[in-house]
Amino acid sequence: METINPATGEVVESYEEDSASDVGSALERAEDTFAEWREVPIREREQLIEAAGDVLRENEREYAELMTEEMGKPISQALAEVQKCQWLCDHYAKHTSEYLEAETHPSPPGTTVKTVYDPMGPVLAVMPWNFPFWQAMRFAVPYLAAGNVGLLKHASNVPGSALAIEEIFEEAGFPDGAFQTLLVGSEKIDDVLADERVRAATLTGSGPAGRAVASTAGENLKKTVLELGGSDPFVVLDDADIDAAAETGAWARNQNGGQSCIAAKRFIVHEDVYDDFLDRFVEECEALTVGDPMDEDTDIGPQAQSHLMEELHEQVEQSVDAGANVVIGGEPLDRDGPFYPPTILTDIPQGCPADTEELFGPVASVFSVADEDAAIETANDTQFGLGASIWTEDRDRGQCVARRIDAGCTYINQLTKSDPRVPFGGVKSSGYGRELSEAGIKEFVNRKTVWTE
Ligand code: NDP
Repeated sequence: METINPATGEVVESYEEDSASDVGSALERAEDTFAEWREVPIREREQLIEAAGDVLRENEREYAELMTEEMGKPISQALAEVQKCQWLCDHYAKHTSEYLEAETHPSPPGTTVKTVYDPMGPVLAVMPWNFPFWQAMRFAVPYLAAGNVGLLKHASNVPGSALAIEEIFEEAGFPDGAFQTLLVGSEKIDDVLADERVRAATLTGSGPAGRAVASTAGENLKKTVLELGGSDPFVVLDDADIDAAAETGAWARNQNGGQSCIAAKRFIVHEDVYDDFLDRFVEECEALTVGDPMDEDTDIGPQAQSHLMEELHEQVEQSVDAGANVVIGGEPLDRDGPFYPPTILTDIPQGCPADTEELFGPVASVFSVADEDAAIETANDTQFGLGASIWTEDRDRGQCVARRIDAGCTYINQLTKSDPRVPFGGVKSSGYGRELSEAGIKEFVNRKTVWTE
């Protein structure tokens, strides 16, 4: 496995892939460690999670630079990602005992009935490259805190991040085998998932990857959580604060080079404020700096891999051929590396990629709608259902609109974002299950009934 710095085209590092026998040993270690780890009192697990947060804090610059080198994320955003992982650790270090407290139920006299939350065992996580630390930690921290052990199959272009995360848990004092990285390609995943020692799986990534993992898990009767793509609507109603919507919208679309499942992708704007919004949105997008991701002032680095930028550009070209109008951008930048500028498309015909597919890069599709009902109809006219952002000065109106949008998370006058305190996940082709908060930690537990006479 080789990692290539997308900004320079240089090979960062080469890694030896794990052999079948390495994977076998890892599974054995996972099973053995689980037998011990499940007996460790929750308070001690919380302390180790806290220690993992400290390791992240001590090495945050190193981890941020590693991510920037491996997948081109601007350094300021990489640093913010490591800090968010620290917050995640702090959160579960403080709240796991409370989240996993046994629940008592009404019961006949002389009887007690309660639900306790036992861990399930080794959980496999198949994770993507777009937030190399956050996506993996978002699975690892709650599931380890619950008493499970973790096996990470990270995306093939970020093995350095995968190994660094394994080391974080080692350095924090977790038992050997509590969290292991498997350096394998996706073709090896079916066998790992079918192995009886693996009890469940979670995947964040594309629809095809999610379907493949869910199908193998289904055949082997294993629970899955899937967090797949999105084409999130960003709805601007006629009473919205246009400046705030345009400023936040530009960031919601373009941060992380637009490579985020919860990025705002379809801007659905009431016709009465369409022109004002578009003007301000163009200004905000044009003000973003595209360039060297190691430069603290860069807003948008290269796309993570050349082939991903080529696929994105093909989606733009197909949409333009179908009749979409390019307001800004629309062509790769004339420089070495997969640099794509903020791009805004309008007059988007139904059925073209900018209308129906996920555009995983800095390309915004802007639609004009006649009224609130049309905004909701357009927002829901997609296979996806991850997040949605709604802009209105009337909070009650915003909440009513939020209830009518098919999405796992809705935000009023705010961009869609994940937060350790709040459940996160989607509906429709965006997947199922929830991560983070109490809902997330309870996805991979055995809710065991204990009835005592
Ligand atoms: P993938 O979904 O292919 O990769 C995500 C993870 O899944 C990687 O670890 C990958 O491994 C693994 N994987 C892929 N196929 C399989 C399979 N059949 N069985 C088991 N594991 C599998 O994403 P890409 O990197 O190819 O990106 C393509 C598109 O996916 C993007 O343009 C975007 O639309 C979407 N995506 C969505 C993300 C999100 O946050 N929801 C994140 C990343 C991508 P390997 O790297 O070895 O192939």
